[in-house]
Amino acid sequence: MNIAQHLALTLKTLRQQRGWSLSRLADETGVSKAMLGQIERNESSPTVATLWKIATGLNVPFSLFITPANGDETAFDPQQQAMVIKPVFPWDPALRVDHFAITLAPGALSESTPHEVGVIERVVAISGTLEMCIDGEWQSVNEGEGRQFAADRAHAYRNSSPQTVLFHSLIYYP
Ligand code: MN
Repeated sequence: MNIAQHLALTLKTLRQQRGWSLSRLADETGVSKAMLGQIERNESSPTVATLWKIATGLNVPFSLFITPANGDETAFDPQQQAMVIKPVFPWDPALRVDHFAITLAPGALSESTPHEVGVIERVVAISGTLEMCIDGEWQSVNEGEGRQFAADRAHAYRNSSPQTVLFHSLIYYP
């Protein structure tokens, strides 16, 4: 099963487990019913921002959608590879943490909608200088440095450099 098929099946399964219609899912996630239907039928691939809205509305970890159960290496690679997200570890239900390696292409900007209430995020710049907007202020995160912040509010990631930036994002669910 490839990542797109896995994502489509996971969404449909999670929705049906809750006994929700597509309309209810649209209400809970803020993503249109038409778009959700297309994703479930694997006719459309969501952006990172859309997938975050879906994960948040369903109250499940983001990595569920991008980590096939067979453990094959995966990369969620929407649209022009501006931002590629790979799980470093699969979702750990005991630790309640997701751990991603994320690459941002030169010039890439990713705005994150707030995660669930109480979610804490850590980012660590592995290669290159990452720029982050936390509480409305842009700041540089230099290679080897980290930031920790409450992720239940809007935040954003940006790469203003001419080189690809690699960073790790660890998402702690309460
Ligand atoms: Mn985030």
